[in-house]
Amino acid sequence: ATNFGIKEALNQLGIKAVNEGTSTGSNNFSNGDIIDSFSPVDGELIASVKSTTREDYEMAMKTATQAFKTWRLMPAPQRGEIVRQFGEKLRENKEALGKLVSYEMGKSYQEGLGEVQEMIDICDFAVGLSRQLHGLTMHSERPGHRMYEQYHPLGVVGIISAFNFPVAVWSWNTALAWICGDVCIWKPSEKTPICGVACQNIIAEVLRENNLPEGISCLINGDYKVGEFMTKDTRVPLISATGSTRMGKIVAKEVAGRLGKSLLELGGNNAIIVTPDADIKMTVIGAVFGAVGTAGQRCTSTRRLIIHESIYDKVKNAVADAYKQLRIGNPLDETNHVGPLIDKDAVKMYENALERVVEEGGKIVVDGGVLSGDGYESGCYVKPAIAEAENHFEIVQHETFAPVLYLIKYSGDVENAIEFQNGVAQGLSSAIMTNNLREAERFLSHAGSDCGIANVNIGTSGAEIGGAFGGEKETGGGRESGSDAWKIYMRRQTNTINYTTELPLAQGIKFDL
Ligand code: NAD
Repeated sequence: ATNFGIKEALNQLGIKAVNEGTSTGSNNFSNGDIIDSFSPVDGELIASVKSTTREDYEMAMKTATQAFKTWRLMPAPQRGEIVRQFGEKLRENKEALGKLVSYEMGKSYQEGLGEVQEMIDICDFAVGLSRQLHGLTMHSERPGHRMYEQYHPLGVVGIISAFNFPVAVWSWNTALAWICGDVCIWKPSEKTPICGVACQNIIAEVLRENNLPEGISCLINGDYKVGEFMTKDTRVPLISATGSTRMGKIVAKEVAGRLGKSLLELGGNNAIIVTPDADIKMTVIGAVFGAVGTAGQRCTSTRRLIIHESIYDKVKNAVADAYKQLRIGNPLDETNHVGPLIDKDAVKMYENALERVVEEGGKIVVDGGVLSGDGYESGCYVKPAIAEAENHFEIVQHETFAPVLYLIKYSGDVENAIEFQNGVAQGLSSAIMTNNLREAERFLSHAGSDCGIANVNIGTSGAEIGGAFGGEKETGGGRESGSDAWKIYMRRQTNTINYTTELPLAQGIKFDL
């Protein structure tokens, strides 16, 4: 069987073969227990890393803090030039890194490439931004005074990321943090550590070529315990954490307890509203890609379809028909649509969700099930399933990180659909399919979707770099990537300068000596 060029890709990315020991980023802060990374694609051992001990972490912090002293003094556009070179290196490594993402995480090769493209896009965005980190000027109430604000680098930014976007989330944070003058310490998911090493190797080469300290980017490995080194550390002014709401609640408390800043990108429970004025063909494509892309393991995956009763059966049948055409298998084989789940625990959660929805009174429309046999040896391949359900079901209220789509019927006005859409704890992505301007505008109005992302005639998944990305409620409130998301990576300072020989006080307060 072909290995789809995985060996060559690993080699290009500087990952050691399984029999050659553990891989590290070139600034190695990992000397603890071995973490083996197995591919959900074929169950094979990809490579190994070591985890970061407390001592290793202290070294990383020291190295990062030292690097910050140089990096923060470099003019922002020059830092932008380094990020530009990083983007170039990513272009050179796009296929290899895309392949590794696909092999270690299990998403399709196309989506793996898409993830690397997102990294390239955020670099381009950050390069331009490096000349625009602007504050405002204000008019002082005192004569002969000037007042303005400026943004300064924060320091060491701690990044904790999830398995499902093993490379892009890191770059969304680092590309902005770097142009802002910060240095970063990254703890990738323990489920995708090899992607972390590959990324570190790429940025390390850029830094080396520019005679810059590698501490600008530090990689640490391990599970939540290693994450806690950072969340508890007062030397880390900002923690950017992407993952489950469960994790976010713990991290938020920890960081707030020391009055640090946190940027949280947590779970979603995303819905598409399908109104009587929807274009059914577009709806089917948007819903199916949204529900089965990355095997339903995107934070923006479509979990609920809220369909008007007048077109309910038509939409249900069209989506169910489309599911019949889905090919499930090795995600590196581009003829397949759906790859595996990340691991067997994820498979259990998927099976549990399908049992629960039936127990709660739901009805299966498209059968699920775990696949076995040729090509499915890893035990992580499942059939995307569809169930009719009600919005208040406990399982529907919960984010199941797997390809399970719930169909929910609404009647009457679009307001009723919006109420369902908003009637969950999460608030990440939402969409409406309609050609009716009034419905679309109501969905986007103050009384409309309560999510961080609200789309019209587009599905819930797949966001562009230029917009701020994130969600409300249990999604955590953070915003990353485009728009003014850069501001969280900097500290704001208000400056007032007196160029007279008098010292008038604000608010006209008199104080004579
Ligand atoms: P997870 O919460 O299990 O783990 C995420 C990361 O947090 C890992 O690196 C993990 O080691 C670390 N972690 C866990 N507990 C911690 C703690 N107490 N202290 C410090 N670090 C800790 O999530 P996952 O299974 O890897 O990812 C899936 C989840 O991520 C889904 O809920 C998905 O919606 C969410 N997600 C959200 C976004 C977004 O932008 N909103 C993007 C991707 C994924």
